Amino acid sequence: MSEQVNNKSINVGVIGAGGRMGRMLIEAVQNNPQTALKAAIERQGSSLVGADAGEVAAIGHLNVQIVDDLVAVINDIDVLIDFSLPDATEKNMQVCAEHNVAMVIGTTGFNEQQEQVLAKASEKITIVYAGNYSTGVNLSLKLLGMAAKAFGNDADVEIIEAHHKHKIDAPSGTAYMMAEAVAEARGQNLKDVAIYGREGQTGERESGTIGIHAVRGGEIVGDHTVMFIADGEVVEITHRARARMTFAAGAVRAATWVVEQEVGQYNMQDVLGLSD
Ligand code: NAP
Repeated sequence: MSEQVNNKSINVGVIGAGGRMGRMLIEAVQNNPQTALKAAIERQGSSLVGADAGEVAAIGHLNVQIVDDLVAVINDIDVLIDFSLPDATEKNMQVCAEHNVAMVIGTTGFNEQQEQVLAKASEKITIVYAGNYSTGVNLSLKLLGMAAKAFGNDADVEIIEAHHKHKIDAPSGTAYMMAEAVAEARGQNLKDVAIYGREGQTGERESGTIGIHAVRGGEIVGDHTVMFIADGEVVEITHRARARMTFAAGAVRAATWVVEQEVGQYNMQDVLGLSD
């Protein structure tokens, strides 16, 4: 661990510093009494390289210049928070593993090979990886497991998620997590039972399947509803994110937690003590 900076003892780097989440993360790191922003990184060629991270996040000058090379600043940080793109995060995991720096990863849309890079990096360093860092979503996952166990296959489960028009992957990482929570509670493998959208002559709904549907538009931060549709009653569990700061503050909380953990891969349920 790096030397104490005032009482902010955990030195943090933020990848994708100019992004929607990156700007929020800079503010959240600044707001957390335990964390200090020590590095802010953008992609090569970004017009933000050289700018002050605090100015970019509209929270005033922080004296942290945005750079385009993680390796140049890796020794200044204890933990890297990465909400960027799968290809970028893949490289960053390798750099952090080589330099023994912990990670909090929020990037969604990993392919199978990138999942493997994550698993390999988690053998060398401590990583929190979550499709959603809000407390409310992680609590919802717990409730979904309870509902899925109580209904079993007596209820048809359909998941509807809605996000802003700029989102480039679907369904959302959170929708996957919710579907996995239901499938796991029912002893299923999600790959065997997931149905993504419906079109044309679909035939009757097969019992035990999980329907997953994505809506895109406007500036919706992130809405998720899971419907348990039984004969004669419907239970809906809904989470609505109102501001990106909920994810950013959760990720910074994860950063303060991850530096105390053994090497391995964790999720936000672990951070919040909801895993058992
Ligand atoms: P965004 O606004 O597009 O931000 C991504 C940022 O990463 C951009 O500033 C981009 O720069 C930068 N970037 C791209 N390649 C890079 C590289 N090689 N090195 C450093 N920076 C690089 O997207 P966002 O809305 O913030 O979302 C980012 C990710 O977080 C997405 O995968 C999203 O699904 C996920 N997310 C997760 C959660 C959660 O709770 N887990 C919550 C919200 C979002 P340019 O724009 O210059 O290319």
